[in-house]
Amino acid sequence: MQDMNTETTGRLQAVDQILAAFPDLPPEAVFKEDLLRIGVDFSEEALRVSSGYKPKSYFIFSFDRRPIEDLERSENLRAPEEIALVGGPRSFRRTIVSVRLLPGSPYLVDVRDGRLQLLVEGEPIAQVELQDTPGYYRRTIQSGKPITELAPTIEWGYLVYLTVYRKCQYFGFKEECQFCDINENFRQQKAAGRPYNTVKEVDEIIEALEIVNAEDRERRTQAYTLTGGSITRHLHGLEEAEFYARYARAINERFPGRWISKMVVQALPKESLKAFRDAGVQIYHPNYEVWDARLFSILCPGKDRYVGRDEWIRRVVDAADVFGPSNVIPNFVAGIELAPPHGFQHVDDALRSTGEGLDFFMSKGITPRFTTWCPEPLSVLGKENGPAPLEYHAGLLRLYRDTILKHGLEAPPGYGEPGAGNAVFSVSAFMDVLPARAPAGTSSTGRTRP
Ligand code: SF4
Repeated sequence: MQDMNTETTGRLQAVDQILAAFPDLPPEAVFKEDLLRIGVDFSEEALRVSSGYKPKSYFIFSFDRRPIEDLERSENLRAPEEIALVGGPRSFRRTIVSVRLLPGSPYLVDVRDGRLQLLVEGEPIAQVELQDTPGYYRRTIQSGKPITELAPTIEWGYLVYLTVYRKCQYFGFKEECQFCDINENFRQQKAAGRPYNTVKEVDEIIEALEIVNAEDRERRTQAYTLTGGSITRHLHGLEEAEFYARYARAINERFPGRWISKMVVQALPKESLKAFRDAGVQIYHPNYEVWDARLFSILCPGKDRYVGRDEWIRRVVDAADVFGPSNVIPNFVAGIELAPPHGFQHVDDALRSTGEGLDFFMSKGITPRFTTWCPEPLSVLGKENGPAPLEYHAGLLRLYRDTILKHGLEAPPGYGEPGAGNAVFSVSAFMDVLPARAPAGTSSTGRTRP
């Protein structure tokens, strides 16, 4: 198949072309992917309105298409964490999208007829709703450190995001994952005055979670993710597994059963994983980033050198013995496999490769998930490149859904409800395209459970 050239036509026309080629996908999910890969702009009036709602917390990476120094209207301080697209001329079901800033994007949030709307090249697409600022966002722990830094929430308040180590010991061109800006983002946020701390102490996290728990009376927060950069040597005298396990242990001792416990760290040997499990971790995310072996070595040079791709994959598979296959959810960064100069040249080849990885893991009951690549300009790969074509992202949504269904798997746990109109996962549309969960007693594929 020839790649569809939808990158040079008008944006709305291009999306409509993709929608016509993928009638089996929810249109909202396709717009969501396009917003995530390209980024969105806000008018001055929309920024004024947004300032009263839950702001971007920069919970780990920048996830913006421009560095802070190029955000001339201080959008980094005024834009919302996420937007919900609803209704409008295309009758959107509620679709939650993470905000990735790009001044001048064809996507603009503006105020029209007295309310926020999403426009594409001036044409209204959907109404925009924002999340109220949760009570805990106005609080600090006793030392004065704000909850927005210690325990921000994403996914419309579902997930507490605990980046307890804000740097990565894979440092510099020869080690850092080429699509990642964690270290550069730390530098730019500090320079911009955000109260980022390299390491959050265990007792600070517990104190912050006491506040979140007390303020979150409706129990919207349902899961937490513990994460941070890789530790290749030691941090505070500890190896990676022990450094991160301490937080899980303390949280799960203080708040048993309050949140689903998720850990995003490297693919570690089984003994370390047992320590995580014993500390109360339920879901493990050993992110493999890209399936193709050649691209893994180029795009993840540190991981390749310290662990190696084959060993990484082996450890992901081994993890299923410790957590159960459905609780091992490795992430990949959708789109980097097409980035020049090393990536695939054709969408079909990229999908074939990524599909092979999905099939490999899903045949073992392990369900990967993906985030949509946003070329961050402070990363090696994002400096020179634009995003992957929308055709790839639409093709991946279809491939992902079909591979899950082929293997008879359910939506991965710890992401809230699947299905268009239900999903809260905001950095890719994989949950939006999966079937909604069937009522108790039936499966989402329509078969009755035994
Ligand atoms: S391991 Fe790679 S993706 Fe993860 S924080 Fe380090 S450089 Fe970034």
